[in-house]
Amino acid sequence: RSRGSLSIWERNMAEAFIALGSNLGNREDEIIRAIREVNALPRTRVTGISRFYSNPPMGPQDQPDYLNGAVRIETALSPLSLLDALQGIEKSHGRVKTRRWGERCIDLDIALYGEESISSERLTVPHLGIEARDFVLRPLMDIDPSLTLPSGEKISELLSKLDQSSLTEAPFPQFSLE
Ligand code: ADP
Ligand code: MG
Repeated sequence: RSRGSLSIWERNMAEAFIALGSNLGNREDEIIRAIREVNALPRTRVTGISRFYSNPPMGPQDQPDYLNGAVRIETALSPLSLLDALQGIEKSHGRVKTRRWGERCIDLDIALYGEESISSERLTVPHLGIEARDFVLRPLMDIDPSLTLPSGEKISELLSKLDQSSLTEAPFPQFSLE
């Protein structure tokens, strides 16, 4: 399609990456549903999906293992509008606040938003601690092995410095975005 036929919002699309995690309920169903809901957000589409990984919890150890994954999106939503939308999806899944780093049926974090570095009360992008989290970097690698952080650091190099031994690839389910 020629550039002239793109609508305004399509010309203002940013590429962003959402990290997904679940350790309550049917983790796979929670994540698939969330991916569909992200794809259905206004002026947003999912353009890449990672493999899924099983991973022991961060923080309190008396909770189930997580299933983690990531998606790439193109979106015309601003970072804060995207955060609002993701928090709306978390709520609709019945997510309740427990303890810090506690169990949750769904967690949707903005891992990266274009080349932007954001540090505000509600939003830190790249997501805090991303450099040290194999369960975020590994899914991002699946989608785009050449991805870099706004700092210029390659996620492939960051990942190679991490242990990764606790990360187990889970079977990838058949599903459609619709
Ligand atoms: P966590 O994901 O760290 O376990 P929560 O999902 O409960 O914690 O989110 C806590 C707060 O983190 C949210 O209210 C949100 O404002 C803030 N936050 C800061 N940066 C981000 C980000 N990049 N993506 C998602 N939430 C973020
Ligand atoms: Mg979160």
